[in-house]
Order: sequence, then C-alpha cells, then structure tokens
Amino acid sequence: MKQKNPKIKSSKCEKHMEQFLMLDKRQFLHFSLCVHLLCCKKCRTQVRLMGLAEKKIAEPLFIPMPFSDENLIHIMKRIYPDFDPQGVCPVSFSKWIIAGICLISGFVIFALLDTAVHVSTGMAVAVYTVFGISITMYCVLFIISNLDFFVKKVESIKPLAEHLG
Ligand SMILES: [Zn+2]
Repeated sequence: MKQKNPKIKSSKCEKHMEQFLMLDKRQFLHFSLCVHLLCCKKCRTQVRLMGLAEKKIAEPLFIPMPFSDENLIHIMKRIYPDFDPQGVCPVSFSKWIIAGICLISGFVIFALLDTAVHVSTGMAVAVYTVFGISITMYCVLFIISNLDFFVKKVESIKPLAEHLG
C-alpha cells in the first residue's frame, strides 16, 4: 500500500490552518476546510485548543505561525495552569464513529429483518420513524458539539511580522 508522505500532509495542514486563521470570527469555514478538519485529527486538535485558549483569556488570541500542538498547549498552560491536555488531545471522533456505526447497523439489521419476515406495517413505520429521529438527532448533536469545525469561533491576531512582510 502506498503511504502518504507526511511532509505533503503537513504542508496541506499548514495551508488549511493558515486559511482558518485568515477567516473572521463567526465566518463559515470553506467546505474543503470543514472536510479537512473532519478528517485530520492534528488540525482538529489545534482548532479545539485555540477555542479553549481564547475562551480562557476572553480576548483575541495571538498565534505565532507556524504553530504546533506544543505551542498551543503551552499557551493554554500559561493562562490556565490546571489545564490537562490529556482531556482534549487529540480530538478523536472514535466515539462518534462507533455510535454512527451502531445506529446504521441497527437500521440495516431491521431492514433485513423486515424483508425476511415482513414485520407489520405499523411496527415498521414506528421503527423507521425512531431511526429517522435518531439519525437526525445524531447529526444535530454532532454539529452542535463540533461547531468549531464548521464556523470559526476564535478571533486570532496575525503575527506582526506577517503584517510588515
Ligand atoms: Zn491537517
């Protein structure tokens, strides 16, 4: 199997994070940026850490470019000494993925059962309605609890050198 070159990946990440920092607060993220954040644990963790850091100091965040997780953790620890990076890093979606797979498997199993034994129409409608509501709730909860990967929630100050250069 062909392994992705980590250098190509990290330059891609840098480009995406630069794009993220260029956005204004409360601006919607570009689709490609959303997709990248949803797929890249490293960038996701950085965005979450920036959000936490800004919340703690409640003022625009000065973020030197290029930055790293260590940098962001250091900033967090400086403004909030009790900060435990273990609780945040990396921002994993494994619980969401497991819950999603369970939900879809339940749906598929019921659909197979329905075609095999023909469950009564009333029962089928009730079960499909519950599945529909559950899947909608799942999507809504996912977006609400990960809003920082869809809308920029931090106000960042670009480094002075960048303004001058
Ligand atoms: Zn990335």
